Amino acid sequence: MSIEVHHLTKTFGTFAALRDVSLTVLSGELVAILGPSGSGKTTLLRIIAGLERPDEGSGPILFHEKDMARRNVGDRQVGFVFQHYALFRHMSVFENVAFGLRVRARFSRPSKQQIRLKVQQLLSLVQMEGMAERYPGQLSGGQRQRVALARALAVEPKVLLLDEPFGALDAKVRQELRRWLRRLHDEISITSVFVTHDQDEALELADRVVVMNQGAVEQIGTPDELFHHPKTEFVMSFLGQVNRFHGRVEGGKVLFASITVSTPRLEGAPAGHARVFIRPHELDLDLQENGRPGLKAFVLRIYSAGPTVRLELAAESGETFLAELSQDRFQALKISAGSTIFVAPRDLRVFGSGNGR
Ligand code: ADP
Ligand code: MG
Repeated sequence: MSIEVHHLTKTFGTFAALRDVSLTVLSGELVAILGPSGSGKTTLLRIIAGLERPDEGSGPILFHEKDMARRNVGDRQVGFVFQHYALFRHMSVFENVAFGLRVRARFSRPSKQQIRLKVQQLLSLVQMEGMAERYPGQLSGGQRQRVALARALAVEPKVLLLDEPFGALDAKVRQELRRWLRRLHDEISITSVFVTHDQDEALELADRVVVMNQGAVEQIGTPDELFHHPKTEFVMSFLGQVNRFHGRVEGGKVLFASITVSTPRLEGAPAGHARVFIRPHELDLDLQENGRPGLKAFVLRIYSAGPTVRLELAAESGETFLAELSQDRFQALKISAGSTIFVAPRDLRVFGSGNGR
């Protein structure tokens, strides 16, 4: 089941929560909606689900090419999972998952035997066999969200909408659950829209990511496209760590922090003031100047407890910035806090005045 949203606008009073949002989710795709808190993600998901109405004049919302505007929530065949465990606390796991089947109109309600079988299948799908008789209070956060997912899947939705489903869980559990969700999505071939403010989660989980900022779509693309070819400063800064320098574009070159670099990546930035973005891993470090445009930097701090080593550096021009290098390279260079090193950008992106928001 594909989903299409066209020119969607939503205003609360005078506040524009969504501004001309258009996107397409292909059948079987897992699309993440990524953006900071307040960027309109939940509002967008609720409108897709039919729980909220868009403004007059918005374009149609199509499910499998059919206009959903006149359909109510129940007809959209949508499963919904929220951030905060929406389980019924006075019901067992079994009863929670069976709920959607039991409340069906009599003519379409499965028999008791069928419900039992279906719930067993769903609990095994979410790896919760043997916990049917427990109550939500007796489960961990991750287990509760898996039950919430089983409950959403009980009515065999064509579309699964997830609003920060792992938001309240700790980092390690989140990582396990996101991989597990990705496998589940592929196994049951469903169309999923996953809302998150966590860029790692979006980049790891999704086929494509919709980056939202202040109610508008900044960029839509595969995780690789967004990370390697960000179209705006916002996308560049939101996806991963980045150093930002103030500089100038002049004669096809960019000047910043006491160096001048020629780069094919001027992104059409006009001459004049420019903002230069460099990711920490895009900096080459050396103990001497090695012939390339490099800047002298003072090592303020070293964070070496991790798969890579991160250095907090100060340029002679005063800016502080981060560099990231492998443990091997770090050992070879014998860098210590307080020493002076030379830093050369391997890659950088420049956004001119007209480009910024
Ligand atoms: P997100 O999920 O990205 O954090 P939301 O979609 O929840 O963002 O909210 C987007 C903006 O719309 C926020 O500024 C929020 O305060 C506002 N908003 C959301 N729902 C309502 C509402 N029912 N009434 C008024 N303002 C709302
Ligand atoms: Mg939200």
